[in-house]
Amino acid sequence: MPEKILEIKDLKKYFPLGNGQTVKAVDGVSMDLYKGETLGLVGESGCGKSTIAYTVVGMYGATDGEVCYKGTDLVKKGYKRTLRQKGEIQIVFQDPGSSLNARRTIEKSMQVPLDIHDKMSKEKKQARIESLLEEVGLPKEYKNKMPRNIGGGERQLVSVARALATNPELIILDEPTSALDVSVQAKVINTLIELQKELELSYLFITHDLSLMRNVATRVAILYLGRLCELAPTKEFFDAPLHPYTQMLLSSIPVATEEEEAMKPEQITSQGEIPSPVNAPSGCTFHTRCRDCMDICKVEAPTMTEIGPEHFVCCHKFAKHGLEEQKEAQEE
Ligand code: SF4
Repeated sequence: MPEKILEIKDLKKYFPLGNGQTVKAVDGVSMDLYKGETLGLVGESGCGKSTIAYTVVGMYGATDGEVCYKGTDLVKKGYKRTLRQKGEIQIVFQDPGSSLNARRTIEKSMQVPLDIHDKMSKEKKQARIESLLEEVGLPKEYKNKMPRNIGGGERQLVSVARALATNPELIILDEPTSALDVSVQAKVINTLIELQKELELSYLFITHDLSLMRNVATRVAILYLGRLCELAPTKEFFDAPLHPYTQMLLSSIPVATEEEEAMKPEQITSQGEIPSPVNAPSGCTFHTRCRDCMDICKVEAPTMTEIGPEHFVCCHKFAKHGLEEQKEAQEE
């Protein structure tokens, strides 16, 4: 069994609004990340995926639950005394334009993590910056440029190089290509894949682009209104999706081959808009849009059930009583 590098247990992150209402941005999420894998965390805008990322790296405090990195609960122990000092967990943000300081050269921006995490001479620091730039496929002379003088894809590669400065083991990729032109997205993705192989990195890859995960992720998790719907190994996820929300998302993504077209679920039209997380529906939060909604779904929240090896689904249809009902219906 591969080593678990990150274990998220019943994580909750609530934001009080000051008018007595609360946004339950993350509401009881549990999942593990294995060493060396890419776990794709996918969902529509506002589903809580970036909130999970920010809570894992300590930018947000958790309301409840555990974030265990190599067995240490960062929520309980405190981020500063653990990973933030060592730099073992890093994050790459969606917009490299705003994550790099526009008034600093690339060299100056890349010095920041080196200054925080490592004491080294000026010469050593310069050599390290040059080698990090080359590691992500950029010329070392780029260190003298300003961020505005290079392309968007190159700026994102600089962000990746900066994240590598502290020799992290886990990198959170928060929509790393969604702000980039399609023409440069592939270069950034290929560089990330190469770096993962070379440096044995583990990625939590956050995206709204489900089709991107087919070739990048080891396993895929789907999030809806702060709760996980389904988590499965990538092939099984795309070949045999079970949760009605997963099926709805997959039915609408473009496919490249006839084989993929044959595997695609029948077209399922999205019913209604995603509800506000301030007034999330009772029971299963997807019930207002689900074509398979049953009475129980409106009052009782389903729990995660392991349907097969590493394949989890959160839906009453697949809970024990749901499976019994389906069996009875088939027998009648
Ligand atoms: Fe649909 Fe019910 Fe399953 Fe929710 S629990 S996805 S409403 S069938």
